[in-house]
Amino acid sequence: MESCILIKNGTLVSKDHDSAQRDVLISGERIVSIDHTIPEKKGWRTIEAAGKIVSPGFLSIHSHDDFYLPLKEHPQLLKSVLYQGVTTAVGGNCGISNYPIRKASLNELDSYQGFLHYIEPKYEWESLQEYLDHIEGRVIVNYIPLVGHGTLRVLNNGFNKQLIGEPKENLIRMLRNCLDQGAFGMSSGLMYMPGTFSTTDELVELTNILKDYPNTLYSSHLRGYSDTYIESVQEAIEIGERTGVRVQCSHLGPFGVVHGPKIDQVLALLHQADRRGVRIGYDSLAYCGGSTTIMALLPPWSYEKGVAQFLQDIQDDSFFDKVIDYLESYVPQWPSWEGSGWTDNFVRCLGWENLFVLSAGNQDSIGKNFIQIGRERGIDKYQTFREVLLEEKGSAIMYMAGVGACIDDKGDMSYFDKMIEDPMCTITVDAIFQSDGRTMPYAYGTFPRIVDRYVNTKKTISLKNAVERFTSQVAEIFGLSDRGYLRGGAYADLVVFDLASMKDYPNIFAERPQLSTGVEYLLINGQLIIDNRIFHDRLPGRIIRNSR
Ligand SMILES: [Zn+2]
Repeated sequence: MESCILIKNGTLVSKDHDSAQRDVLISGERIVSIDHTIPEKKGWRTIEAAGKIVSPGFLSIHSHDDFYLPLKEHPQLLKSVLYQGVTTAVGGNCGISNYPIRKASLNELDSYQGFLHYIEPKYEWESLQEYLDHIEGRVIVNYIPLVGHGTLRVLNNGFNKQLIGEPKENLIRMLRNCLDQGAFGMSSGLMYMPGTFSTTDELVELTNILKDYPNTLYSSHLRGYSDTYIESVQEAIEIGERTGVRVQCSHLGPFGVVHGPKIDQVLALLHQADRRGVRIGYDSLAYCGGSTTIMALLPPWSYEKGVAQFLQDIQDDSFFDKVIDYLESYVPQWPSWEGSGWTDNFVRCLGWENLFVLSAGNQDSIGKNFIQIGRERGIDKYQTFREVLLEEKGSAIMYMAGVGACIDDKGDMSYFDKMIEDPMCTITVDAIFQSDGRTMPYAYGTFPRIVDRYVNTKKTISLKNAVERFTSQVAEIFGLSDRGYLRGGAYADLVVFDLASMKDYPNIFAERPQLSTGVEYLLINGQLIIDNRIFHDRLPGRIIRNSR
């Protein structure tokens, strides 16, 4: 056997192993055997793993890696994710995918999903197939594609409210093409325009198409995480109930401490649905706090003529006062396709004191909320908000404390913890990378944090259950039997980690956050990406395509 790697004396944890000491032999891209002792042979690489945990590589069920994988520099960008033990990422989430695209619609597409690009995209593809062919053989991590409902809607129906007639037929044809070309399902982003305009019936009709394909998923950035949180979860359940397709509620944490108590009701609804046979699950970030573009703080009607016009309009006091009045008083209404379409008023659910500038042209603003910036400038928070919008031309990124129901992972975390500790919960990294290096802590510490906080410290999740949720529980959703498990014949996606050293070092406003610790070896398809804690920029990742 050539190019074998033997991992000796490790403690195996996976769906099939509960801390059993075994040797694992890898040849090429597969695990060939797992046994009590496998004798070393000359020419093999031996990794001594006594006292370390050996588990399948982690599957991150919710990522936007489709925006990063085509970039030459993606191994460096994703390094912080790989150091957490991730070997497979699911992309195309929140109703947004970097495919299919149409050269003629780039302007519209850019105003919908441009905020996810790290640099100006080159678009060397149009269809999903072309995208997957383009990145195949050039990626560091395995990739599972979903297609974004919002992307399909923008391409075929622009930002129009109603989806009917020919645009609808074209959208359906495009969705089918994506599914034929390997997509594992469709994601929706019901907070964003135009997703927010789509009715439950529209989503049911489109999700029904997924039934013609095996192992498909409807994953949803819900229609509201604050005032309409409960209705939004009920809608996701309804879609699962009416279609029979598996549903994933994305990053379930509510927006604002005030909505934390609703988690009890949400978990009860999800478990009741599960007991009636609805195929449903959810994922969560490992931290409280979220990030989004500064424009998301504004009511959609205020910039419906485009951001450039909006920046003109807010220089007029009466227009600006109207915007501020709205921010201070608007309560999101159900359903979002009626009325204003605004699902979450961050000023209302989080409060001005919890809205911080994360990434901006003016470095003086970073790490401060509008009250703090205003104090320095000698103006009130409203005028400060206007000034920042104008000087950043509407393109700063905000950090929102209180997303997930607690502030900066301090104070009362009981609702957040309940959401994580529930066995239905899978964990997501959900990293978005800015070109200035700033990103949310989840990009750096998600999986180590779960192990550190819930397995090692609180002891509310067993190591075996945590690993299953990171691996086989996600693999099962996509019908994968050769990833997410430690079995002879499975792909050699593996993590070797030191349980006690699994730790994250969150530092929200740092330009270069610190990598997490604990992962000592990481193998993707049999190749060492992390070797004795040293990173190797190799490209062994595989594109996982769904097939009928
Ligand atoms: Zn989302």
